Amino acid sequence: MPEFLGPVKGFGVTFRQMFKKVDTVEYPEVKRDTEPRFHGRHQLNRWPDGLEKCIGCELCAWACPADAIYVEGGDNSPGERYSPGERYGSVYQINYLRCILCGLCVEACPTRALTMTNEYEIADDSRENLIWTKEQLLAPLEEGMEQPPHPMRLGKTERDYYSRGAGGPGPGREAEPEDGADEDGTEAANWAPGAGKADR
Ligand code: SF4
Ligand code: SF4
Repeated sequence: MPEFLGPVKGFGVTFRQMFKKVDTVEYPEVKRDTEPRFHGRHQLNRWPDGLEKCIGCELCAWACPADAIYVEGGDNSPGERYSPGERYGSVYQINYLRCILCGLCVEACPTRALTMTNEYEIADDSRENLIWTKEQLLAPLEEGMEQPPHPMRLGKTERDYYSRGAGGPGPGREAEPEDGADEDGTEAANWAPGAGKADR
């Protein structure tokens, strides 16, 4: 191509762009849906009776490459139960100043307590507000759920509990009477790692 046509070719690129459909989104007035597997903010899930799935094991914190998660475990007692099993997450924080939304914490969680939502509007101009607490991260109570602490209400044994919670009827499923629940945790061995993964 002759040298003098170089600028013309350059302007040609500019003109072609001028007539292409603009991909600008008028955010925040217009919000596009994310892809289903988009990594948004986290959520701490519940069992269908409202108990928390988090057992305070800290595996998510150890898996996090950005050191963004802080967990303190607490002991459940027959009179004050927050999760099925022996332990629950008494303190749970995610620091969104550090989090890179990689999802490794979700992969590490043995009970599927921790998942990621499609919500991406987590920006803030306060450092304090970007440290999300357990109360902010916990999934809301759905119909049929009860605010912990309370006994396990899905079936008479722990096996019943986990199989109903994983594959039984959805939220709002029938509640068992308190006296049927296994409160001393002796049947914990019945629990299969990964129970509950079906309702991810
Ligand atoms: S998404 Fe990644 S960076 Fe964020 S808390 Fe989980 S493991 Fe850490
Ligand atoms: S969210 Fe999962 S991995 Fe993290 S402490 Fe709770 S149970 Fe353990």
